[in-house]
This record gives sequence, C-alpha cells and structure tokens, in this order.
Amino acid sequence: MTTVEPERGARAIEVRDLHKYYGSHEVLKGVDFHVDAGQVVCVIGPSGSGKSTLLRCVNRLEEPTSGRILVEGIDICDPEVDLAAVRSRIGMVFQQFNLFPHMSVLKNLCVAQRRVRKRSQDEAVRIARDNLAKVGLADKENAYPAHLSGGQQQRVAIARALSMEPDMMLFDEPTSALDPELVGDVLAVMRTLATDGMTMMVVTHEMGFAREVGDNLVFMDGGVIVEEGDPVDVLSHPRHARTQAFLSKVL
Ligand code: ADP
Ligand code: MG
Repeated sequence: MTTVEPERGARAIEVRDLHKYYGSHEVLKGVDFHVDAGQVVCVIGPSGSGKSTLLRCVNRLEEPTSGRILVEGIDICDPEVDLAAVRSRIGMVFQQFNLFPHMSVLKNLCVAQRRVRKRSQDEAVRIARDNLAKVGLADKENAYPAHLSGGQQQRVAIARALSMEPDMMLFDEPTSALDPELVGDVLAVMRTLATDGMTMMVVTHEMGFAREVGDNLVFMDGGVIVEEGDPVDVLSHPRHARTQAFLSKVL
C-alpha cells in the first residue's frame, strides 16, 4: 500500500476526461472538473445529468470506467493507493442524512473518530462537541436522530463529517429532502464553512447559495459539463441554450 501524503500545491480535486458507464449506458461522457483548495464549486443541472455520479466518483463510491481522478494530487484509481486514507480526508453529506438511528447524536459523531482516527474517547467527545456547537446543536448531544427535525439531522451529519477534520467536503443535494423552512439553517452552516475556508463541492438546486457562496458554477446536462464559470455570470448570462432552458425553469 502506497503512503498517501497530499502533494503540496496540488488541486484539491482534479478530474480529467472522466467516463462512466452503467452497463451500456454512458452517464459521464468525458468530464474535466476541478476544485482548488479553499474553493467552493457548485454543480447544477437537471435530474439524471450525472451530478451524483461525478461526485461519487471523487471518492470512488463509484468506479470510473476511464479517466483520471486526483485528490490532493493522489491518483485514487491507482490500485496501490490507500483508498481509506484518502477517503478519510473527504467529508461527505448526502440528501438522506444517513445518521445511525440507534445512536445518540454524540455517539454518531464519535464512532468514526474512534475507529478511523483512533482518537481517545475524551478527544473524540471534545471534537464532537466543538462541531455540534459550530452547527448550532450544542444542546442536542443526547438526542436520537428520530427526535430531530430534518434540518437538525442534516446539521448533525455535517458536524459528524467535520469531526473527522477533512480537507474537503462533498455535498450531494444536502437540502433537497428538507421542508422549505428548514433549508436556511443548513445553508447558513454551509456558508460559514465556506467563509472559514473549507474546500467544497456542492451539488445543489439552491441558486441563491450558488450565486452568493460559490467561487465557480458548473452546469451539467446529459453527462457533460455544458458550461461553467463565475456563478453570477452563468446565472445572469448563460451562454448555452441548454443552460438557458434549465435556468428558465428553476429561477
Ligand atoms: P443526477 O445526480 O444528476 O440526478 P445521477 O448521477 O444520479 O444524476 O445519474 C445519472 C444517470 O445514471 C441517470 O440516467 C441514472 O439513471 C443513471 N444511474 C445512476 N446510478 C446508477 C446505477 N447505480 N445503475 C445504473 N444506472 C445508474
Ligand atoms: Mg443526484
């Protein structure tokens, strides 16, 4: 197993000519994509365009068919690479919060810290509490997920990912399963993370967030990146007909 120290000066995420097939169905048709350290890149596009597949390839939850994926300069498709070590530096937050239902909030935040980071119980608890405070849920450490609102559960999921002290965070439609009145609290937490300098890839339908927080906006359709650029430019002056058609439906 190759040791995997991040390469200095490398991009956080670099995807080159990525192709992904499910059977004979090509869902990513040559995607070039990158996120620089400290950047927030938002990915938008219609359902089925390949956004989740792209995001999931970045930590090899999906196996790319061809192309290269470098995370902090490390080729994650190299069979010699310690994938677990690379993954431990990537926090993931999904539409469904995926908390462990039979564990308290605090336990949810400590399990992977103990098992993967090998932290002592005291240290794991201290880091968990710091992160619960960061997402505004310091008073919920003993609650069980079922007793929390969707927005609170998603903030716990974010705090759990942060407790691993990742170098970057990947979000796949983190607010899509939430009642509208709960979306704002989750976006506020993500905005604070961005302000604090976290590297983020965010698949989202929240165009206000993309406009205000994103450093770059990527529009995908049919397994390709159709258009990308400064979010204000892309949202206000989309150049391609497909981007215009999509935005006219969602804005
Ligand atoms: P998005 O996130 O933009 O909605 P996805 O990346 O989830 O799009 O899906 C892209 C395409 O790949 C869709 O046509 C979807 O049906 C297909 N797809 C996604 N996951 C699988 C899978 N595990 N097996 C087969 N097809 C899949
Ligand atoms: Mg998706």
